[in-house]
Amino acid sequence: MITQTVTVPYLNLGLQHKNIKADILRSIETILDSGQFILGEETQKFEKQFAELAGTKYALGVANGTDALFLSMLALGIGKGDEVITAPNSFLASASSIAICGAKPVFADVRDDFNLDPALVEKAITNKTKAIIAVHLTGRPAPLNELLAIAKKHNLHLLEDCAQAVGATYHGKPVGSFGTTGCFSLHPLKNLAACGDGGVITTNDEKIYKHLLVARNHGLVNRDECSFWSYNSRLDNLQSAILNVKLKELSKWTNRRREIASMYSNALQDLDLILPIDKPHEKAVYHTYIIQTKKRDLLKEYLAGQGIDTKIHYPLPIHLQDAAKELGYRKGDFPVTEKQTDTILSLPVFAELTNEQVNYVSASIRNFFKAN
Ligand SMILES: *Cc1c(COP(=O)(O)O)cnc(C)c1O
Repeated sequence: MITQTVTVPYLNLGLQHKNIKADILRSIETILDSGQFILGEETQKFEKQFAELAGTKYALGVANGTDALFLSMLALGIGKGDEVITAPNSFLASASSIAICGAKPVFADVRDDFNLDPALVEKAITNKTKAIIAVHLTGRPAPLNELLAIAKKHNLHLLEDCAQAVGATYHGKPVGSFGTTGCFSLHPLKNLAACGDGGVITTNDEKIYKHLLVARNHGLVNRDECSFWSYNSRLDNLQSAILNVKLKELSKWTNRRREIASMYSNALQDLDLILPIDKPHEKAVYHTYIIQTKKRDLLKEYLAGQGIDTKIHYPLPIHLQDAAKELGYRKGDFPVTEKQTDTILSLPVFAELTNEQVNYVSASIRNFFKAN
């Protein structure tokens, strides 16, 4: 039997922790000694720093990115009978969060850059529409000016799904500071990751912030008094302590992701591939670096044979999931998304990749196209 060792993994979280392990362990020890596990000082410190990073007045930790979206919509009174528009090519939680608060997810197709097409969003608006969720997919900011203008014109809320885009900017301003709320995930696979689940909501709206502080904590206005039935969705103090260590590394990690992206783009630009393109007003953080080719399946298999792991984000669009059946969508409804589904391939792009690994991936892709 021939065994092929993986020389370039898609991600190696162990490596991310290698250089900061001593600091992380120290921060965990502090929490263990303090016994403060829920809504403690480290969480407050993290929230303060995160608000600075996102350029908002407020940030609050929640249990995960899906809850960040879900609780935001609940806070805006979105529920049964309402419609919320989002992208069908996103991670499914952009839509499930709408459905689980009782509203109907409505999809609009995307542009070449995987983000919502504002013209199609406007077409999807009905008299039931309450909000638009802009997803900054791949870590590239969605066309926020256009989407904000549409939201304003139709008196809708714009929410930002920033799960893949921590640190990204649009015309120099951080994502998460444009919408009524910005919703971030701290899942281990995201650019800023807890050692477990976590999420953050950012907002400039004091009323919404104050409501969410209560809503994430059983509806408790103080230790004993509950003003409305709500959820238990908090960010652990232990996770916050770890995140406070990692926050110091984030801009370095982001710069390295962007550097790797430009290495790929330079090395692959003359091939028969569609590559990500940075527009001057966008600072993308490359949660994923996605290339597009009709030979995707062959290329993926070839790269696997070279010890290079790649992924597909995502192999089945949300509107074609079994869970979405009752929404009544069909194959063919979102041609750009569906075409991309068949051609997209995510290359490894995590900060700890070496230049040798990046060059090896590029060279392997070049070799594939020479032979195919
Ligand atoms: C990961 C992700 C989410 C969900 O975040 P969780 O923390 O896993 O709940 C939502 N939207 C997008 C675009 C994501 O990538």
